[in-house]
Amino acid sequence: MEIPEPKSNFIREIIDADLASGKFGGRVHTRFPPEPNGYLHIGHAKSICLNSGLARDYKGKFNLRFDDTNPSKEEQEYVDSIVEDVKWLGGDFEDRILFASDYFQAMYDWAMKLVKDGKAYVCDLTPEEMRRHRGTPSEPGKDSPFRSRSIEENAALFERMRKGELPDGSCVLRAKIDMAHPNLTMRDPVMYRILHADHHRQGKAWCIYPMYDWAHGLEDSIERVTHSICTLEFENHRPLYDWFLDALGIYHPQQIEFARLNLSNTVLSKRKLLELVRDNHVSGWDDPRMPTISGLRRRGYTASSIRAFCADIGVARFNSIVDIWVLENAIRNELNRTAPRFMAVLRPLKIVIDNYPQDQVEEMEAVNNPGDPEAGTRKVPFSRELYIEQDDFKEVPPPKFFRMTPGQEVRLRSAYIVRCGSVVKDAAGNVTEVHCTYDPATRGGDAPDGRKIKGTIHWVSAAHAFPARVRLYDALFTKRDPDDVEEGHDYKENMNPGSLEVIDSAYCEPALKDAAAGTRVQFERLGYFFADPKDSGPGAPVFNRTVTLKDTWAKIAQKKPSAK
Ligand code: ATP
Ligand code: MG
Repeated sequence: MEIPEPKSNFIREIIDADLASGKFGGRVHTRFPPEPNGYLHIGHAKSICLNSGLARDYKGKFNLRFDDTNPSKEEQEYVDSIVEDVKWLGGDFEDRILFASDYFQAMYDWAMKLVKDGKAYVCDLTPEEMRRHRGTPSEPGKDSPFRSRSIEENAALFERMRKGELPDGSCVLRAKIDMAHPNLTMRDPVMYRILHADHHRQGKAWCIYPMYDWAHGLEDSIERVTHSICTLEFENHRPLYDWFLDALGIYHPQQIEFARLNLSNTVLSKRKLLELVRDNHVSGWDDPRMPTISGLRRRGYTASSIRAFCADIGVARFNSIVDIWVLENAIRNELNRTAPRFMAVLRPLKIVIDNYPQDQVEEMEAVNNPGDPEAGTRKVPFSRELYIEQDDFKEVPPPKFFRMTPGQEVRLRSAYIVRCGSVVKDAAGNVTEVHCTYDPATRGGDAPDGRKIKGTIHWVSAAHAFPARVRLYDALFTKRDPDDVEEGHDYKENMNPGSLEVIDSAYCEPALKDAAAGTRVQFERLGYFFADPKDSGPGAPVFNRTVTLKDTWAKIAQKKPSAK
């Protein structure tokens, strides 16, 4: 497994200091705690690479823990996909796939302990009343009238909540902290609510469910996590995380916050990604346009390129938007080294070489990867009738057009130098066929007299090429920040109508027939492509373009008026 060199960051500095002071007995134990209510995305990858990377580098441990405390939204499909994605990224949780729901009894017992210590109470206020009692950042809140219930009454009521004797919404368990606390999170937060709902693992065993702030520190404590790393939104919640653990007097991990990843021209909110899938704006969670791990994988990203991206962006304490080309560069850099080259023509134009013998076929020798001599060469059949890219021919050339145009010589990659003669047009005046002559002395593509040929284009032999479906992708959203919309408008209005282009029959050189599902190749001059694992059949690959050869974002930003 290719592992990027770790960069120093503020979290490593905290861990180094803890190791030096012996704070956790020299241990490092991290976790990744997803809620199984959607597929993982590239933001989660940042957290997985960070947490599992720390465990690896400090010879510690890394847990995969499902934060499945919310019964209504969680599904097994999500659990399975998350396990697959974390493994694929190289997050090594060994045998530790853990579930917060397995700790429900311990959590209940601890809550009862707080009740008995006078640190928690059952409150019957409605959510609306509770909101009104809560106050604002500038005004203190008001005590609930139920705050003065006796310990005995609270214990009895909490037990009735747990036994299912009270209906949904009739009351909650709250921590008794301080309704005037300057931090609103500390104003008697809710610990449990009643919900008569089936849980994906616990079935009907529970009808009270713990709130995130109450549960999360307990989960970390039970697993003896040392550094509980979360995103910046939880900074305000850290005093509460600490309060619960201190009130119980149990093992106390250190919460550390870092900036979440935001990526340009896409959305990383589970709710929005779910909406895109549910309402068929994309073909599924693994649509290659999605910023999900499964979408990126199907687009052709490798796990190592995502790890390299995460290492490259680093970890900081301020929020920002990372440009999507930074992610694209990570896979481009890798494929530039590793992907063998082939020729394919996306939008074919027929070429006839008038002076080439009618039935002759030559096997031209083509280099598989100029950057890697060990990748060797392959044979590409050449014959009298070829296809080239429509774009590579212009009857009336613009200035500095070095490709095919009447009267001009151009090099056919790994084959011959040809000179364009006449064209054939249909009734509408479109060029349907171009006639050329070739110079037999230029086999391989070079002129023995040393004359300069500025343009080189790719081609396939018409009789030997096979048609394949090719899918080209562009950003899912035209706007850098899709959420930047006027009031009353929706992020979906920023979707890019041209994010997917399907070419039903691109012509591919015969060697590509053997590209098994999951193969990564470069189509010369067109980009890096991936044989789709779901849609490719034996001898019938379907290619997804992973990324173009060069960064095209500078151009796109100018072209699209909506891009900022
Ligand atoms: P929600 O809680 O709204 O369902 P979420 O994106 O926070 O959505 P979780 O399943 O709770 O989803 O996330 C699991 C972990 O991934 C959390 O520890 C969270 O900090 C981290 N995480 C989520 N989104 C990002 C992001 N964009 N960048 C970095 N880390 C993230
Ligand atoms: Mg979350």
